[in-house]
Amino acid sequence: MLTIHQPEIIERENETVLQAKFECGNTKDILWFSTTNEFGSYLCHERGDAFLVAMLLYAMKRGEDIHILAPISARLYYTLTKHLVKVIADMFPGYHQIQIIGDIDSGNLDNAGGVGTGLSCGIDSFCTVIEHTDESCPSDYKLTHLTFFNVGASGDYGGDHARDLFHQRTEAVRPCADELQLPLVTLDSNINEILDMRFVITHTYRNVAAVLALQKLFKTYYYSSGYSLRQFELNHSDSSHYDAYTLDMLSTNATKFFSSGEIYSRVEKTDIVSIHPLSYKYLNVCVAAETNCSKCNKCQRTLVTLDLLGKLNLYNKVFNLSNYQMHRSKYFGLVLSGRKNDLMKQEIYDSIKRDHFPIPFGAYLYRYPQAIFQFGIRHCPEFIKRQYKNLKRQ
Ligand SMILES: [Zn+2]
Repeated sequence: MLTIHQPEIIERENETVLQAKFECGNTKDILWFSTTNEFGSYLCHERGDAFLVAMLLYAMKRGEDIHILAPISARLYYTLTKHLVKVIADMFPGYHQIQIIGDIDSGNLDNAGGVGTGLSCGIDSFCTVIEHTDESCPSDYKLTHLTFFNVGASGDYGGDHARDLFHQRTEAVRPCADELQLPLVTLDSNINEILDMRFVITHTYRNVAAVLALQKLFKTYYYSSGYSLRQFELNHSDSSHYDAYTLDMLSTNATKFFSSGEIYSRVEKTDIVSIHPLSYKYLNVCVAAETNCSKCNKCQRTLVTLDLLGKLNLYNKVFNLSNYQMHRSKYFGLVLSGRKNDLMKQEIYDSIKRDHFPIPFGAYLYRYPQAIFQFGIRHCPEFIKRQYKNLKRQ
């Protein structure tokens, strides 16, 4: 049995903390969420929802029922017990279907009516921001707040390094939030250390838990999709694959989650982002460095996409374009060679084919490196030309 106690609020000089003790077997610990005092009054100690969602996979992995000593929102109790718990148990190898025991609360929470989304300044995040600050968005659904959480994106398992990176990244995105004239809500947590699980598998649950910790602030929250709805699958290896479903299952009476950008491919999102001048200053997709390294897999993918959209030169402040031009053939070659095992590369390849984009001829050297060994470099071009013609016919 995993027992989660009633959450409590602790006010400190520079932060307000929402925390709850828990016990599971021989483990006794405290899970906490902390925000600046400016937003401290929105931390929700009246419900156990944030802690229930945060610990759901933890309990199911161990086969422990959850006994929660704080009221659970009626909608969340219903969706978990009648829908999601079984879906997770069937999807995750070795996970168990568990019982959730606790009081249900059907009443209304105080809610400030905020509309939020995470601001990472990546393609998915920028696309959500653009679509929900645009004049075509109904006023009730326009963003009122942006968020930045330390729940695993800066390091799956937490620790000081991840926390330092979280603070650095917060300051990197803050000027963008300022230019958008939207307040930036930051939230720190020890969920990374408690869960001890990979972020990619659990990111939807972690971020939803963080938002539910602020359940008295947000009426609506957009979670930027990693994959399009066309790529939906119940696949435990990345919670992005099925979060269009999970987000509805984890909504409460007070806070409704939407998957955002799920109707677009990554190429289409990049096209949307590329019309917004703020992205020319702040786009940051890198997984290897604090600013875009222009070399890692995500930087490469974004540069190639901007290239085929004809928007590359708009991004000379955030990417090293001369480095890109030096490696352009290789990066296109990696799209050709890697597309079968990478949905994002396949999307780029589909756009190349659809638009008849003239990719550099040298890319085929990377597509068919075996030719160099088989035929020798002197005869290689003929072989590649034959392959190129075959490819065009596909
Ligand atoms: Zn990079």
